[in-house]
Order: sequence, then structure tokens, then C-alpha cells
Amino acid sequence: MNHYSIAIDGPAASGKSTAAKIISKRLNFLYVDTGAMYRAVTLLMLEKGLDTKDREAAKSILDECDIKEDREGRVYLNGKDVTSRVRMPDVSSQVSYACAHKEVREKLVELQREMAKSENVIMDGRDIGTVVLQDATLKIYQIASSYARAVRRQKENVEKGISNASVEEIQKDIEKRDYIDSHRENSPLKKADDAIELDTSDLTIEEEVEAIITLFRKKVGEEVWNNMVQSL
Ligand code: C5P
Repeated sequence: MNHYSIAIDGPAASGKSTAAKIISKRLNFLYVDTGAMYRAVTLLMLEKGLDTKDREAAKSILDECDIKEDREGRVYLNGKDVTSRVRMPDVSSQVSYACAHKEVREKLVELQREMAKSENVIMDGRDIGTVVLQDATLKIYQIASSYARAVRRQKENVEKGISNASVEEIQKDIEKRDYIDSHRENSPLKKADDAIELDTSDLTIEEEVEAIITLFRKKVGEEVWNNMVQSL
């Protein structure tokens, strides 16, 4: 049986994961939040008092770093649910350093490909269309102004009780992460040649979800789409 996959890449807080989660429920696809995995590695380094920029330190913890994600998008580090913890500012401000090490990426890319092997999947991150799922059925490169992204993230942080950082602080943090993510040596953030760019600055989540589902439907064609919808 053919498996279908949707890859969503783009800068920090561009609404990728919110949209991807909703789409996964509507199409009954597995959702994989790859950012949460890099965040979990970062958390372990911080808990051990290690410098996230130190490649040897990052390598040294990989064998004792068991990361799992369940179907609800909850992430577990060595058996412990760290879903909310990894969203906190100390992890957010360090994750771009920890994730840049080659060995960290190799370990997590393997895990991500393994998760996508046996079912339809929607995965979001920075290198999904360029590295992890190079043959994805649909590749989206999502962008939005850093201000629009900061406003959204601030609202989400307050709603979820994650932090009460200001829009300005969040905007600074995401611009810094975007810079590091797009200038690193290993798998930098960039649009895959065959990805479709989607600017979500003025879109609601529902409009974004609709736009991606419509693009997917066009990509697979009516016959596949109708079969898929019938089996839902
Ligand atoms: O998507 P999220 O903001 O949770 O990602 C956190 C960080 O993890 C990103 O800023 C980036 O440094 C890193 N990341 C990555 N590759 C991915 C997903 C996330 O390098 N596929």
C-alpha cells in the first residue's frame, strides 16, 4: 500500500504544529512534531548542566536519551512526559545550539523516518522536505512575519501557562533562532526546491488548514482523495 506524507517546514512559531495537528486528526494521519524531539535532547543537556554548544557533550548523552512521541503529540524523555516542559523559555533559547550537532540530527532523523515508515504521516520541522522525507507527497514551506509569529506565540504561551514573556522578547528569541537555524552547517532551514510556499501572516488557523488540505487533495488527485475520505 502507498503511504502519503505531508512535510511542513518553516521558521519558528509560524503555526506549523497547530495546523499539522488539526490536519492529522482530519485525515487520520500520524502527526510527528520533530521540534519537540530536539527540545527533549536540549532539556536533557540542561538538566545535566552541559553546554548545548559543546558537540562532545551532546554526543555523550545520546545513548541515554530515549525519546518517544505518542499519537497525541506528547513527548517523553526517558519515560517522563516533558511536553510542556520543553516549551519553556530556557529550552527554547538553547535548542538551536543543541540541534545543530551532526550526531544529534542523525539520531533524530532516523527515529523520525522510522515513525513515518508504516503509515500516512504529517511531520513538521525545519528539514523535513529537504532531508527527512525527501519524497513527501506534499511539501509546504510556511512563512509569516516575525511580528505575527511572536503575537501568536505569546497568546499561546499565556493560554497554556508556559511563560508570560512579552511579544518583543518572543520576537527577539524567534528571530535569533531563525538566524541560527538557517545558517547552520547541518541541514539548515531552507525551502526545498519542490516545496510550496505558504504565507500565513494573514491567515487564520482554519484558513491555513484548508489551504494545506486543498493542496494535498490536488496533489494526490480525486480518485485517491475520494478513497481516502471514504475510509475515514
Ligand atoms: O518547531 P520548534 O520551534 O519546536 O523547534 C525548536 C527548534 O528545534 C528549532 O528552532 C530548530 O532549532 C530545531 N529543529 C530542527 N529541525 C527540525 C525541527 C526543529 O533543527 N526538524
